[in-house]
Amino acid sequence: MEANPTPFATQILAWYHKHGRKTLPWQQRRSPYRVWLSEVMLQQTQVATVIPYFERFTERFPTLNDLANADDDEVMHLWTGLGYYARARNLLKAARQIRDNHNGEFPTSFEQVVALPGVGRSTAGAILSLSLDQPHPILDGNVKRVLARHHAVAGWPGEKAVENRLWQLADENTPLGQAQAYNQAMMDMGAMICTRSRPKCDQCPVALTCQAMQQQRQSDYPGKKPKKEKPVRACFLLLMRFEGKVFLAKRPGAGIWGGLWCPPQLDTKAELDSALQPLKADKSPQMLDPFRHTFSHYHLDIQPVLVELGRQPEQVAEQSAGWFHLDEQHTIGLAAPTEKLLNQLRQLG
Ligand code: SF4
Repeated sequence: MEANPTPFATQILAWYHKHGRKTLPWQQRRSPYRVWLSEVMLQQTQVATVIPYFERFTERFPTLNDLANADDDEVMHLWTGLGYYARARNLLKAARQIRDNHNGEFPTSFEQVVALPGVGRSTAGAILSLSLDQPHPILDGNVKRVLARHHAVAGWPGEKAVENRLWQLADENTPLGQAQAYNQAMMDMGAMICTRSRPKCDQCPVALTCQAMQQQRQSDYPGKKPKKEKPVRACFLLLMRFEGKVFLAKRPGAGIWGGLWCPPQLDTKAELDSALQPLKADKSPQMLDPFRHTFSHYHLDIQPVLVELGRQPEQVAEQSAGWFHLDEQHTIGLAAPTEKLLNQLRQLG
């Protein structure tokens, strides 16, 4: 890190002061807590999607202690639709660690922040630079793209050597004393100018020195992840309906849809048959339209099965499971496919 900004950083900063984003909700009343929330929400998610979630979250949990003391289901409910639910589980875990180990004060040393669940080197750097102007570089997806193109860094950033080179460039270019503005500028550059497809090189402040631009090979940087076909799995989701209510059970914390409420999942036809057998359904089970849900590591082909029941079966007594009225609002976290199916049931009437 240099006290005097590099020519690259000087141009990026000048552009930022004119064109950068300064009115995002987490840039108002800046605090490590609010920036941390925004950074976690922004992982794999666009700013426009995050804004309403951030606003609802901070209205309901204005302080770190409010979040730490929150009910898990309410947090998952407020996260519903944002995806990558491990982020919400880690957020809660981290908030409780801060409450218990740091007297509820968000830590301000890099080592303590990077040790929090769900916080990596770049997120820790972003939290401390954006909220407190501490001198740490960041390397999120946007920054990787700008640096890889400008310096023609070949290779996929998931490879250690490529990532190390990008961290080195990030570090060299982050100016001491101006990390807050510079890091925000780089994120804005990646989101607004050096976009994934069709970058606006004609508006770019560093176009004259950009190697990808000189080679007209913008789309070759950063290198793509080597392609690997995702495996396909299949399951049935059993929608038991009784007097306008549907049965949902809370999934264990680990694994897919961890901590969210879902209809029972059955992985084979035999498991489905033995689940249906004791139900004594009024009508034959109805196969609803199948659909595919894609996770980061595999595709899941889901066959929803609707069963109309004349009486409520025993499962109601189970812990972390229950009957939910389709016409009522519930403060529980739902995975996207569950939400989709519940909406479908409401329409079916
Ligand atoms: S010139 Fe184009 S490719 Fe190069 S950094 Fe600017 S926007 Fe990105």
